[in-house]
Amino acid sequence: MAPGGGICKEIIESRIAFADYETTTSNVELRGSPCRKATTGFGGNTTSTNDVHELLECPVCMNLMYPPIYQCPNGHTVCSNCKVRVRNSCPTCRHELGNIRCLALEKVAESLELPCRYQILGCHDIFPYYGKLKHEKNCKYRPYNCPYAGAECSVTGDIPFLVMHLKNDHKVDMHDGSTFNHRYVKANAQEVENATWMLTVFNCFGRQFCLHFEAFHLGSAPVYMAFLRFMGDEDEARQFSYTLEVGGNGRKLTWQGIPRSIRDSHRKVRDSQDGLIIQRNLALFFSGGDKQELKLKVAGRIWKEQ
Ligand SMILES: [Zn+2]
Ligand SMILES: [Zn+2]
Ligand SMILES: [Zn+2]
Ligand SMILES: [Zn+2]
Repeated sequence: MAPGGGICKEIIESRIAFADYETTTSNVELRGSPCRKATTGFGGNTTSTNDVHELLECPVCMNLMYPPIYQCPNGHTVCSNCKVRVRNSCPTCRHELGNIRCLALEKVAESLELPCRYQILGCHDIFPYYGKLKHEKNCKYRPYNCPYAGAECSVTGDIPFLVMHLKNDHKVDMHDGSTFNHRYVKANAQEVENATWMLTVFNCFGRQFCLHFEAFHLGSAPVYMAFLRFMGDEDEARQFSYTLEVGGNGRKLTWQGIPRSIRDSHRKVRDSQDGLIIQRNLALFFSGGDKQELKLKVAGRIWKEQ
């Protein structure tokens, strides 16, 4: 940090006077205060920003460090997660770490402004160091989780990638068009415990929608539920509507709804009961036959609101 060292020290000192970085208000005040000018000048020099950036990288996990940042008596730093992981022994010199906070570095971090980690995916915003993590949790460019339910799948990515993943790795049925007629058949309708997870992907309006169908217990009542999720963000999901219809023997149940974004987990949508719910008795009545086998015809339509 040689050439920028003097400026850096000034920032540390002036910022320490403001102490509490944990309250948002003080952050806001700081950013509007004269300190901000020093920060900008400091950040304007790319080399020193990179140097500081490197200083803030934990030597163990390589992630950026957030308070509390710890240091050994020789001044080597480590993040709080890794401090536990390395059993209190400095990863650089093996000296015992103790509980020495590196307040100076925590304060320097506060003066930095960094790009969102999803910059490469299209987010071009710059954030104060301590606001960056919070933004990234909600950044609209962050990758989506795989929408497949019923199995733990940790795959993440953008929508085109996930569509390929569903098709190739989960062998999910893909359908083109905005109307559908689907049959769900299960030889033993009593098997609610082994919840049946079914997913079909519909491709219409140049977008993709996941139709979920499953069996589970709502309280103690065995039910079947069908609902639609939109492969994209919620603000776009709200531009669409859908209906689902199931029936037989001259009766019919209709559900009209708005697809949920796959940002909402499958579980969350299910638990909020935001979809077509069919009690098992009614489902068996719709199925006709011997009341053992489940044969449900679900018809649906997706449209875009004007
Ligand atoms: Zn770490
Ligand atoms: Zn050390
Ligand atoms: Zn972002
Ligand atoms: Zn998956």
